[in-house]
Amino acid sequence: MERKTQTGYLILADISGYTSFVAQTEIEHADMALSFLLETIIEKLSSLLTISKLEGDAVFAYVEESKLEEAKSLLELIDQTYVVFRDKALTLYADATCPCRACRALPTLDLKFMVHHGEFIIQQVAGIRDLLGTDVNLLHRLAKNRVSEATGWKGYALFTEQGLERMQAEKDSFLQQTESYEHLGEVETYVMDLHPRYEEMKSS
Ligand SMILES: [Zn+2]
Repeated sequence: MERKTQTGYLILADISGYTSFVAQTEIEHADMALSFLLETIIEKLSSLLTISKLEGDAVFAYVEESKLEEAKSLLELIDQTYVVFRDKALTLYADATCPCRACRALPTLDLKFMVHHGEFIIQQVAGIRDLLGTDVNLLHRLAKNRVSEATGWKGYALFTEQGLERMQAEKDSFLQQTESYEHLGEVETYVMDLHPRYEEMKSS
């Protein structure tokens, strides 16, 4: 068993609320679409990040500080990943010949990103790698947040203060919110709506 503490970025890309509303008979189509979409996300993210694992409808990835030459490139990666995700969902929809709810819902699918910067332990047991630590837990807790409730946004990128400061991004262009979690306390977050960015990127 090998353990080492690392510092870097922790990223969770989470496809929101798909399988939950799909009826039992439509699960097969939902699963197939999800696999395609997760593959698309993984392919893009892995150009810069190490994929840790698949967690249901989410992809958990990280990058050690030392391996990321420019923190700004992480923002670009999020934009690019969002674009390929939405394009893929729309292509799957356009190609679908089936009227089931899973197939019809493809254009409404969305993707949210949670980004944190902190410490983590890479534990390797019998060749299987796992990431551990308080910052890893925090990242996962952030997936449950008040963003949609407060703003109506469904596709967004949420950064912790630590995550955003490292990237030297302009805080002004983000919506600041405070989330509160049991045992972790209050967490300052900075959120960006990805829909207008998608439209902008598609029109340019
Ligand atoms: Zn279908």
